[in-house]
Amino acid sequence: MPSRREVLALSAALSLVPLARLGAATQVVGVYRRGVGEITVTALLDGVLGLHPDQLLSGSDPETNARLLRAAFVAGPAIDTSINPYVIETAGRTLVVDGGAAGAFGPTAGNLPAALAAAGVAPEAVDTLVCSHLHPDHVGAFTTADGAAAFPNAELRLHPAEHGFWTDPANFAGADDQTLAFAQMARAAVAPYADRLHLTEDGGELAPGVSLVHLPGHTPGHSGVMVSSAGQELLLWADIVHIGPIQFARPAVTIAFDVDQPLAAATRARVLDRVATDRVEIAGAHIDFPSFGHVEAVGTGYRFVPSRWDHQL
Ligand SMILES: [Zn+2]
Repeated sequence: MPSRREVLALSAALSLVPLARLGAATQVVGVYRRGVGEITVTALLDGVLGLHPDQLLSGSDPETNARLLRAAFVAGPAIDTSINPYVIETAGRTLVVDGGAAGAFGPTAGNLPAALAAAGVAPEAVDTLVCSHLHPDHVGAFTTADGAAAFPNAELRLHPAEHGFWTDPANFAGADDQTLAFAQMARAAVAPYADRLHLTEDGGELAPGVSLVHLPGHTPGHSGVMVSSAGQELLLWADIVHIGPIQFARPAVTIAFDVDQPLAAATRARVLDRVATDRVEIAGAHIDFPSFGHVEAVGTGYRFVPSRWDHQL
């Protein structure tokens, strides 16, 4: 893993805003469990990142950003952005979707291990680790501090294009330091799972009622997870939206972390149209915790409608 100095340099390069004010008093660990038919999906709060729209977004401008933030009653200019991994429990199986940021972006994230413990999920009990993509805020807790597998009995599932992109040095010839650091962290996250890596194509089954959905653009193999049971559906769409108050209203707006910005925008447009038309419930890795909701078409964009609290479990 990179040193603390490298991490701080990385954070500065990414326009990530330190959230020091969270130090005095913080929330308890975030765990929210709900059902999708016979399947249990638990959202866990790894923490928050401060994202600065004016510095990170393309296809918008500071005036528009300020107007949309004001309309959402969000104090700008930086936005506290959730990092949400999930646990899926079905048919005796336990899957973890994504690994949070660990220490990669400072002390306001890296709570996944504590959240798993609070949810009663031991790392040894996890049989499948699903990786939406290999960015550092999604793989942090895959490994221990000394680089070993943090989930000793889990196989690692991800899309072949994701694994191929980050592990081929030819893709990073002449890349800047930030991109090289991302690639190094991606390879370090995968390495201890090399002998139980299960690359999974679009539509591939991860567990009964749970399948991978390839959503390329943000990264080449960026993928969501579709959960289907007893007539209910939930799409964990990973990083389709990073800054909700702006990108739901203006889905063509892209973010600096998108590897292929036109494809990321096209995939976002396609997914938003599908879930709005078919009224599919979604959950997003960077939607405000616990991140469940529906999407409604409004004018030239969309609006996010959070799901009601689930009292049934
Ligand atoms: Zn992310």
